[in-house]
Amino acid sequence: MTTRLLDAIRQRPLLGDGAMGTQLMLAGLEQGNCGEEWNLTHPDKVLAIQRRYAAAGSDCILTNTFGGSRIMLNRHGNAEKVAEINEAGVRIAREAFGGRPGFVIGDIGPFGGLMEPFGEFKEADVLAAFREQAKALVDAGADAIIIETQTSLEELGLGITAAKEAGAACVIGSLAYDVTLDGSTFRTMMGVDPERAAEFLEERGADVIALNCGTGMDMERARQAVARYRAVTNLPVMAQPNAGQPRLVNMKVVYDETPEQMCTGVKPLLAAGASIVGACCGSTPDHIRAFRREMDEFIHENQTV
Ligand SMILES: [Zn+2]
Repeated sequence: MTTRLLDAIRQRPLLGDGAMGTQLMLAGLEQGNCGEEWNLTHPDKVLAIQRRYAAAGSDCILTNTFGGSRIMLNRHGNAEKVAEINEAGVRIAREAFGGRPGFVIGDIGPFGGLMEPFGEFKEADVLAAFREQAKALVDAGADAIIIETQTSLEELGLGITAAKEAGAACVIGSLAYDVTLDGSTFRTMMGVDPERAAEFLEERGADVIALNCGTGMDMERARQAVARYRAVTNLPVMAQPNAGQPRLVNMKVVYDETPEQMCTGVKPLLAAGASIVGACCGSTPDHIRAFRREMDEFIHENQTV
């Protein structure tokens, strides 16, 4: 029996996964190299990371396809492998669950540039790239598509359109907010605030409104973003904050928030109305295991008899 993701989150909150990029680096991927290509060249390493998330209790695993659009893959000479890389991404994530129920969320990140008139990319080319990637992910059996780490509504809108056209059963739109210099609020690099993003996503027909990554967006800021989403929309909300702030130590980016620190924010996030909680850059299977414990306690404490 298969339950759809949107039906599942009506029953109980779901646990997402943690970082992929920083885990791939730990597994030997060099900065600047194509992590998505590892779906073909090192599938065992990608699978090992995702198995650790599944073992930690993730209900949802994102495919290793963040930079899997033609425009991103072209930078690594992999433009002709879009279908192959995305299909492999879905297959590996599914395999990570080892036959137990779990949701594979097809991951689409930013195309990595600016559109006209600010940059050189034509809107039609960006839409075509998202369409191609979304179709590959859906055809391979992804349960949902997430368009994530988005900062502009124009690009986000193209991703949502592409995912819906591809026939995704669930479309998630996720924005990356940065805390403002004075610390009073947060908005995306392109100046979008959570209320505007939620209204826009609802208009475009997204099924879940999300936030991920961002600068200074700790668990408390993520809780605030969830609350602000919930104040303007009834759609389910997903949150994947980073494991604290990135710092450069010996030319390596490190994230400071331990699983013990970060997991204290899980229950407040759920109480604010988050339906899916995962984590972004710097988080590890240990963070997700700690999240699992908190989420299970929350579900238990809030069970209606
Ligand atoms: Zn991130």
